[in-house]
Amino acid sequence: AVKAEHLYKVFGKKPKEAARRISEGATRDEVEAFGTAAVIDASFEVKQGEIFVVMGLSGSGKSTLIRMLNGLLEPTSGTVTVAGTNITAVSAAELRRVRQKSVSMVFQHFALLPHRTVLENAAYGLEVQGVPKAKREAQAQRIVELVGLSGWEQKLPSELSGGMQQRVGIARALTAETDVLLMDEAFSALDPLIRREMQEQLVELQAELGKTIIFITHDLNEAMFLGDRIAVMRDGRIVQVGTPEEILTDPANDYVAQFVQDVD
Ligand code: ADP
Ligand code: MG
Repeated sequence: AVKAEHLYKVFGKKPKEAARRISEGATRDEVEAFGTAAVIDASFEVKQGEIFVVMGLSGSGKSTLIRMLNGLLEPTSGTVTVAGTNITAVSAAELRRVRQKSVSMVFQHFALLPHRTVLENAAYGLEVQGVPKAKREAQAQRIVELVGLSGWEQKLPSELSGGMQQRVGIARALTAETDVLLMDEAFSALDPLIRREMQEQLVELQAELGKTIIFITHDLNEAMFLGDRIAVMRDGRIVQVGTPEEILTDPANDYVAQFVQDVD
């Protein structure tokens, strides 16, 4: 469903030069004068209907990576293919079309429409896709219930707690009829009990709706619980991709071994 090939993202004065030098063997530190290499040579393929978790410490490049997967950020080099379209080689209009049709994204802090109700916010992704009001609100209603917000449908975002607002954002992304869902630390702001519940709901929904989910977290237990496969990032590079089982029993290096020591 989503494929990344030799993706690089460098922020700074001479990103192309930095990416080229790294691809020829220079280290991240050696190219620091040209820019900050946030993502280095990332290649992976996420299968249809899979939950693919990207795990790593803060600053390891997770957000930069996921933003390139829906064209929010343009890679310095490399390609991203979504639902068969190479989004790094299309016009802005075509990119918008692919995004609306195929990819939705949940950020850590979700921007809701302040003057619309919970239900309208949840249905917004379908509104953008041109789905009629009655149909989109019926679909949104179901998802609003799944995220535990029954009874709150007609409230405005300002009447909700932060955690509830976040769940509205998640409901919006789940309601949208997109095949691919990108979630960047989407549960990190939730309190632990709700968070656990949302993790369970997500796994159930995924099984039911067959969505392809790319889920970013710096939380090891969350990664182990959700992931069909996990990519471990360190300093801009993906250092291992494997099932939770493989990551635990056969870590690719000392770094990963250290990382997974704390799993519950
Ligand atoms: P993560 O999401 O894993 O915490 P990020 O992708 O946000 O990591 O950041 C990776 C690296 O890229 C960090 O060193 C960060 O400071 C740098 N970075 C991210 N965005 C920018 C930007 N817009 N300009 C310059 N540097 C950035
Ligand atoms: Mg981040």
